[in-house]
Amino acid sequence: MRPTLCIDLQKFRHNGRKLCEMAAKAGLTDIAFVTKSFCALPEMVKALEGLPNPYLADSRIENLAAYPETAKQKILLRLPMLSQCEKVVRHADISFCSEPEILTALDREAGRQGKEHKVVLMVDMGDLREGVFFRDEEGILALGRQALEAENLLFHGMAFNVTCYGSVIPTQQTLEDFRAIVERVEAAIGRKLDFVSCGNSSSVYLLDKADFTGYNNLRLGESLLLGRETAYCHDLPDLYQDVLTMEAEVVEVRQKPSYPIGKIGVNAFGQTVEYIDRGDRLRAIAAVGQQDADYAGFTPVDAGVEVVGASSDHLLLDVTDHPVKVGDILRFRVDYSAALRAFTSPYVKKVCK
Ligand SMILES: *Cc1c(COP(=O)(O)O)cnc(C)c1O
Repeated sequence: MRPTLCIDLQKFRHNGRKLCEMAAKAGLTDIAFVTKSFCALPEMVKALEGLPNPYLADSRIENLAAYPETAKQKILLRLPMLSQCEKVVRHADISFCSEPEILTALDREAGRQGKEHKVVLMVDMGDLREGVFFRDEEGILALGRQALEAENLLFHGMAFNVTCYGSVIPTQQTLEDFRAIVERVEAAIGRKLDFVSCGNSSSVYLLDKADFTGYNNLRLGESLLLGRETAYCHDLPDLYQDVLTMEAEVVEVRQKPSYPIGKIGVNAFGQTVEYIDRGDRLRAIAAVGQQDADYAGFTPVDAGVEVVGASSDHLLLDVTDHPVKVGDILRFRVDYSAALRAFTSPYVKKVCK
């Protein structure tokens, strides 16, 4: 079955080990590897066993529920839905929260299931996604007190998330500002928190630069999968960028003009596209499309192959400088967006080696 997403488990595990080492050097000993981008594919989750990360994290409760047997603690990253609390308490050891109603519901549900559920309070440091806004000190303290006093909840820690909606890059200042908030909460509740988390793969660039005093956790997804940090999108030199390879089969090779013939309107997705006339070119079609992956994130492995567009099922390539024939397999590196959609698509076969 094709298209196929090939996963090199050895390289993947290597990335995990290296990230744990890099983080430990900065004093961050309690890494959470994030499995959402690869839909918690069991072989990949298993490949992380034996690494020193105490946590695995995912945004989907379905993925946590389907994890292979693991001794690691399971974190639900996404804010729990009120309607989901039964499953959250059942399948996650820890959840990230920002609303009193959710804490109340999780507490009640944990009592019902006879469990202690750990909660991490989210603070929004300016990226404007989830969390109590950092200037709302009273709101943060109130939620902290509620987490502390809830009978069946354990107030495990605090976290912030950036570089998701607001494209905010974490800096030494962000670390200091959040640390001050954590210290105020710790003073108010009279104890230290077990889990103080300073973001995601966009904090990796700070590992050899910033002072991480007071922190012990990072949540890492993209850096693990693609071997790059996400603040400046630089490759991490000791990690592999080619854990993933998309393979697609060539189904047509024809000499064609590069500029469409006829009256031009919109494409299959209602978009207005600028076409460049480069004269006649050797064009190939590979059997992978928008329903399988985000083709804009494809980089051909072979020099001379150029992606020119895609519809739902057809990837259009200029192969003038790298002629191919029907039945050949073409390979592509994928970015985060292409990988996410490929892992999620039932039409893409996943093969681990
Ligand atoms: C997705 C997610 C992460 C992981 O982000 P990467 O950039 O892939 O490392 C961390 N924390 C939260 C809350 C997330 O939703």
